[in-house]
Amino acid sequence: MANIVAIVGRPNVGKSTLYNRLVGKRDAIMDDHSGVTRDRHYGTGEWTDKRFTVIDTGGYVHGSDDIFEGAIRSQVEMALEEASVILFVVDIYDGLTGLDNDFAKVLRRSKKPVYVVCNKADTTERVQMAGDFYALGMGDVYPVSASNGYGTGELLDAVTSHFEPEPEVEEDHIPKIAIVGRPNAGKSSLVNLLLNKERSIVTDIAGTTRDTVDSHYTAFGKDFVLVDTAGIRKKSKVHEDIEFYSVLRALRAIEDSDICIVVVDATRGLEAQDINIVNLAQKNKKGVVIMMNKWDLVEKETNTARNVEKDIRDRLGSFSYIPIIFTSVLTKQRVLRVMEKAVEIYENKVTKISTSKLNEVMQKEIERYPPPAYRGKYIKIKYITQLPTHNPTFAFFCNFPKHIKDPYKRFLENKMREHFPFEGIPIKLVFRDK
Ligand code: GDP
Ligand code: GDP
Repeated sequence: MANIVAIVGRPNVGKSTLYNRLVGKRDAIMDDHSGVTRDRHYGTGEWTDKRFTVIDTGGYVHGSDDIFEGAIRSQVEMALEEASVILFVVDIYDGLTGLDNDFAKVLRRSKKPVYVVCNKADTTERVQMAGDFYALGMGDVYPVSASNGYGTGELLDAVTSHFEPEPEVEEDHIPKIAIVGRPNAGKSSLVNLLLNKERSIVTDIAGTTRDTVDSHYTAFGKDFVLVDTAGIRKKSKVHEDIEFYSVLRALRAIEDSDICIVVVDATRGLEAQDINIVNLAQKNKKGVVIMMNKWDLVEKETNTARNVEKDIRDRLGSFSYIPIIFTSVLTKQRVLRVMEKAVEIYENKVTKISTSKLNEVMQKEIERYPPPAYRGKYIKIKYITQLPTHNPTFAFFCNFPKHIKDPYKRFLENKMREHFPFEGIPIKLVFRDK
């Protein structure tokens, strides 16, 4: 089961403010980079060693004053069906309203954990008022202030207690590949090509995180597990937002995978939705390869591929390390390249780099271009090592870690990528006191 936290509640209680608080500011920054301007109502949150997806259901289901009932039903139905944990937001300032009670009536039937979040607890007096909401009879109440952050730590402790930390990678783990993308991009055609043409199912592996069975395949000479994205969820009564469900489906597949092949219809070009999917994959620390499919349909002149790639790179902004491959599933052009690349990216993701090699290579770069001094303080990076985490994370031990600024961090990341094979995967640099 994916770690999905759904936020429900009547309008104006602060759902979207809470959403922004849980997802963090980085989301907004990322969106600036990728040029995605539309509102997003789902995003990735992190708390200690756990990662989860937050959905603001209010962003998807709207209701006017007269049709609240329908809006409540849809919001809550969506949450009950899709979420692992539900946050029921109420407004401390307004106190308990009839509409809150309507929500509660439906939510009390939930088998999933529901937390009553008493928002706008900005001051001590307000915090005390949270007690009124015990009248809902839904267990503990959590006074928070979505605007100033009060109480959100305790809330997150409670919410993430339902989630498992990321599992360790097993020895000779086979890469799990998710094929994601917008409708009509060519995903099923690719799956069919992989599974029908040169298919040999090796074993069936019981899914550990989901109640599906993933199959181990060999195609084009590569071993992999295909994350099953189709038919995971039963048909819902909620028809409001198809995009919401296609996103959820992609999200589940992404969470379950090591590597995502993002299939894009080259005749349409890279669109905001595609960038959102890439964004989600990167937030979930997955490897990504972008497949510009239906290349056979694109009229080509000299340098077409190069120009198109440049244009895509401009729009991808900070994801410049993601490989882009121009394919045709129809003619099988470069499909093998995609599979090879996916497996290669997986290798990049799990390979550990020795401390001696890291220091040998990076100290030279640092000597050539040392971190700028901060207020006359000379900053020295003494030692670099890869942390034993699931995803490539590197600790830079130094005397004044707080004074290393973003441009220098980007310089270090670029140098790391120049010297080591991190194509297609996000890496993290952390700066610590020696
Ligand atoms: P939604 O309709 O439930 O998504 O609510 P919004 O997040 O749009 O918030 C509604 C209003 O409440 C906005 O004016 C917010 O600025 C305000 N608001 C949200 N959270 C807080 C809070 O913790 N304290 C205070 N004082 N105002 C808040
Ligand atoms: P999905 O919705 O992403 O699973 O897309 P499908 O695999 O169903 O493909 C949508 C349509 O595009 C179908 O008619 C496919 O035959 C067609 N298609 C898929 N890949 C290619 C390709 O590389 N070239 C061309 N010309 N058509 C393709």
